[in-house]
Amino acid sequence: MFKPVIGLEIHVELKTQSKMFCQCSANYFGKKPNTNTCSVCLGLPGALPVPNKKAVEWAQLIGKALNCRLNQNSKFDRKHYFYPDLPKGYQISQYDEPLSLQGYVEINQKRFRIHRVHLEEDTGKLIHSGADTLVDFNRSGVPLVEIVTEPDFDNSEDVKRFLEELHSIIRYLGVSDADMEKGSMRMEPNISLKQEGQAELPKYKVEVKNINSFRFVKQAIKYELERQQEILDRGETPAQETRGFDEKKQSTYLQRSKEEAHDYRYFPEPDIPPMIFSREYLDSIKVPELPAEKMAGYMKLGIKEQDAFVLTRNKSNTDFYEVFTDEVKKRIKKKHKDIQADLYQKTANFVINKIKTYSNVQSELINIFMSALLPKEVDEHRLNEVIKKVMLYNRQAIDDYQKGKQNSIMFLVGQVMREMKGQVDAKIVRKQLENELKKI
Ligand SMILES: [Zn+2]
Repeated sequence: MFKPVIGLEIHVELKTQSKMFCQCSANYFGKKPNTNTCSVCLGLPGALPVPNKKAVEWAQLIGKALNCRLNQNSKFDRKHYFYPDLPKGYQISQYDEPLSLQGYVEINQKRFRIHRVHLEEDTGKLIHSGADTLVDFNRSGVPLVEIVTEPDFDNSEDVKRFLEELHSIIRYLGVSDADMEKGSMRMEPNISLKQEGQAELPKYKVEVKNINSFRFVKQAIKYELERQQEILDRGETPAQETRGFDEKKQSTYLQRSKEEAHDYRYFPEPDIPPMIFSREYLDSIKVPELPAEKMAGYMKLGIKEQDAFVLTRNKSNTDFYEVFTDEVKKRIKKKHKDIQADLYQKTANFVINKIKTYSNVQSELINIFMSALLPKEVDEHRLNEVIKKVMLYNRQAIDDYQKGKQNSIMFLVGQVMREMKGQVDAKIVRKQLENELKKI
């Protein structure tokens, strides 16, 4: 029998004002490619990086929230590899003196250890367009926190639960949107199998890169465990390799094999002095109340575990709920104390219902708004056919138009619109019609 051994690497982009080592905005989302750059984040020779104080503080706050030991001495290092999204040929990261080490997150009385939390810079983005590969450096140099766990997981359900908890913690701290769709939280499980009862770790591990949903992490783990199990059943050892995740096929595919394993040639970043933090400063970093504590508090009030979980997943739900419970607290009379727990639970039910309705209403409104705002998708093929048909049956209007009666084109536009049942923009129809009329 084989047992899964799973560890995680999580990258979180910090939402600081500026990038990690320059003054460019850290908010690159939706900007025109390569407009959010400077000599530092483009890696031009002679440009000097200056660390972002806020980013260092926030990375330390994350470390502390994950129960890590914060290092008094820390430094940045150069991590070398050659890839087009990395303009300098190295990434400024942290190697042997990260900001914090050896923490843990506890979920349902199970403790999952954190190996380290360090700070680095994000890379540019590659855009594959036909045969071309384009590079957008807007993201280059955005502060990135890397959280590495010990290989403490043996099933994908615990992994998912851990990632959800981490996601909530980061959002509670207010240091990142951790928006997975935008890529501001990216997850990489490393997965292997060992013999049941075997004390040491397996001799290989398979890393699955850059996954951006909890569900996909679960699917990637499931697929990998089955794939590796098959190899082991044949009496072979799976190769140490890096794989990607195919969302459509719900499977992983080979990206880099062991032969290409990188030697990063780490050395201390010579342009940034080492950082030294006083004990007093490190002790003064205050972690706000985190979701787990909130959840425990709610359960003490008598709220069901599942409901307490839902209410504490994000700060706005929590705040919303507490507006109601504060009222309950204020208005409840001494003689009603025995129904207090019941009232809190009823309030929880009410709020959870409202949140659900609200999010439905919200997405419905967004759909209505966007469809009113954006031009309708045109079925070009059908539009062409309809235009030809309308032109064929309305020779008179065409003749009038060609004789200089400009208005008669509106009659033709009206005919096309009617035939298309309004599923097309009148301006587009008019333009297309004008083109066709020129051809006659
Ligand atoms: Zn810059």
